[in-house]
Amino acid sequence: QAKSGGKNTYRFFDPEMQKAVLTRITLETELRHAVVQEQFILYFQPQVNHLGQYIGAETLIRWQHPKQGLISPAEFIPLAEETGLILPMGFWVLEQACQHLARWAVDPLFAHLTLSVNVSAKQFGLPSFEHEIKQLLATYQTNPNRLKIEITESLFLDKTEVVINKMNAIRKQKVAFSIDDFGTGFSSLSYLKRLPLEQLKIDQSFIQDILSNPKDAAIASTIIALGKNLCLTVIAEGVETQAQQNLLKSMGCLSYQGYLFGQPMKMADFEQLINTQPTVK
Ligand code: C2E
Ligand code: MG
Ligand code: MG
Ligand code: MG
Repeated sequence: QAKSGGKNTYRFFDPEMQKAVLTRITLETELRHAVVQEQFILYFQPQVNHLGQYIGAETLIRWQHPKQGLISPAEFIPLAEETGLILPMGFWVLEQACQHLARWAVDPLFAHLTLSVNVSAKQFGLPSFEHEIKQLLATYQTNPNRLKIEITESLFLDKTEVVINKMNAIRKQKVAFSIDDFGTGFSSLSYLKRLPLEQLKIDQSFIQDILSNPKDAAIASTIIALGKNLCLTVIAEGVETQAQQNLLKSMGCLSYQGYLFGQPMKMADFEQLINTQPTVK
């Protein structure tokens, strides 16, 4: 029986709470196991330019759970962050991306494509992160110009100098940076001028109602202008309709990602897409 109030509250024995704790412990144990067993699979979501040409893809991780099937990152990334499992997981994702890019480099149909990889603040904060990137690029002879690292604004909450120095060092290796979910975080415009960025990625929450909500349209249009004035590329994520793309294009946004162009898909399907796309010259 759970005691309510008093100095010692035995809330832990609340059956609901107990169930939640058990679920978490089970999930954590299974996630550890998943890292060792490499039960993950990368999906690839195409990115296109204003001419409709594929320019690359974002890598999105999924967990192939032996019993529960495919589990979305929203369900395990937070726990992976808490437990530190995001570190081996994130390394695995980067390694996969470098391998695919190296493979593509020798095929004229694929050599121009970029891969955008999500890197969590914790992974970026690892003292060895810069070295890890260097090692991976060397090991797989990957062209660094094709690799893009997606970070979020949460990275700039603390130790700004350390973050900027590390970003500069990685940028020196020719790897690009994109700010993911731009506009939703702890935006301080002052860091934009100090960071070696290549891209702003407009968060999908501004795209969803861009046609009906003038405020969303104003924000998207402002981010596009900001990017242009800072000489950054701007990509919109979560583009689902032709009308959304048309509006974004009229605002000057020239890169897009979203269900309109393709859901996140397996590598074989992405390569099939590239292989069968009409050549635009
Ligand atoms: P994100 O990086 O902002 O990725 C975009 C999410 O939006 C993806 O969800 C994608 O499937 C979804 N999406 C794409 N186009 C559309 C669209 O047109 N409409 C709608 N409604 N949704 C769309 P997903 O794959 O579930 O990933 C969720 C988040 O998990 C990602 O957000 C990212 O923060 C995180 N994540 C995924 N893979 C990794 C990874 O390898 N490492 C880390 N650290 N985080 C990852
Ligand atoms: Mg992303
Ligand atoms: Mg995003
Ligand atoms: Mg997002």
